[in-house]
Amino acid sequence: MKYISDSIGNRSSRTNLQTIQQLTMSSNHVINFGAGPAKLPRQVLEQARDEILNCGCGLSVMELSHRSAEYAVINNRVIESVRQLLNVPSNYKILLMQGGGTGAFASVPLNLMHRGEKADFILTGEWSTKAAKETSKYMKVNYVFPKPEKFEKIPDQSTWKLDPEAAFVYYCDNETVNGIEFPFIPETNGVPLVCDMSSNIMTRKFNVSKFGIVFACAQKNLGPAGITVIIIRDDLIGHPSPICPMVFNYTLFAHDDSLVNTPPTFIVYMLSLVLKWIKEQGGVGSMEEQSKTKSQLLYKTIEDSKGFYSCPIDSAYRSRVTVPFRLSTGPEADKQFLKESQDIGFLQLKGHRLVGGIRVAMYNAMTLDEVKVLTDFMIKFQEQHPQFQP
Ligand SMILES: *Cc1c(COP(=O)(O)O)cnc(C)c1O
Repeated sequence: MKYISDSIGNRSSRTNLQTIQQLTMSSNHVINFGAGPAKLPRQVLEQARDEILNCGCGLSVMELSHRSAEYAVINNRVIESVRQLLNVPSNYKILLMQGGGTGAFASVPLNLMHRGEKADFILTGEWSTKAAKETSKYMKVNYVFPKPEKFEKIPDQSTWKLDPEAAFVYYCDNETVNGIEFPFIPETNGVPLVCDMSSNIMTRKFNVSKFGIVFACAQKNLGPAGITVIIIRDDLIGHPSPICPMVFNYTLFAHDDSLVNTPPTFIVYMLSLVLKWIKEQGGVGSMEEQSKTKSQLLYKTIEDSKGFYSCPIDSAYRSRVTVPFRLSTGPEADKQFLKESQDIGFLQLKGHRLVGGIRVAMYNAMTLDEVKVLTDFMIKFQEQHPQFQP
């Protein structure tokens, strides 16, 4: 709370004060650039606050039985909203499970291993690498191209070695740690495509019918941590491995409308509010436009800095939602940047421990104005620190 108001006294020349002052009125005096759990829309938090003691039926939603008619409404609203927002065809089921994104790294092989003993993996960063490691407990894993030393681009599809007998082909649409995002949907010649969209679901439109499974944990774009949304084509349901735990069993969840056991009911309720908010903003198409504008502004600021800031990722594969960059003169400069940005209220900008530097997460709840405040700060910081000029 104190950060930005302090800076208004101390550093009047360094930032665009008018914009910051406007923002402090509306965003609790800080801007959260964290990659997850991430910023939630203010309207959603306010509605949750207003309804926390009484969700309309005399109880808090946290006290409702998951078998009650009232909770069924919330549960079905989430499933229907996902279907509507992403245009999910009727031959796909939408499941709400626990275990996060990491849970899905196990549930995917546990539900698809009847199709064969091998799986193809497209490794583009930390998350796809972790998923491959988890799958290798249950199946043989084949990398369609050798694991690169550094994740900075996606090798051309014509060089991939896909196995036509693979049970599925797996990839991660947006590598949250590395900042690599797919500009295309891989072609798999009929082998089911499985995609981790944890950090970019609902930030752009995509054709669901190209996929066997799409999954996403909630804490980036959909709500608080605690739910994984799984969109799965009907023909892939029905053959769980005998060792598949009940809580990871897609067949049971599809059959019971995701009410196999007690779900995190409050989190599902929060999802219902976020999905309503996305609809009110104009849906996924509108999120996509905003995401493009926000990311173009940030990348342009990096490019215009003439090497003061740099992003290691090949420009064709740069993420629109999680942007890593660093100051070219090294970690000391990064540290100073992080310190001064924290002082004025930019929170959680520190890069992932594996990558270092700075990482800006700009999911759906991040406004263009907030990104502008950051880029204004970046420009001022460069002016104020000639000692970090490369
Ligand atoms: C955050 C994230 C995950 C992991 O989610 P957990 O819920 O922490 O298991 C997986 N994949 C991607 C792309 C992510 O961004």
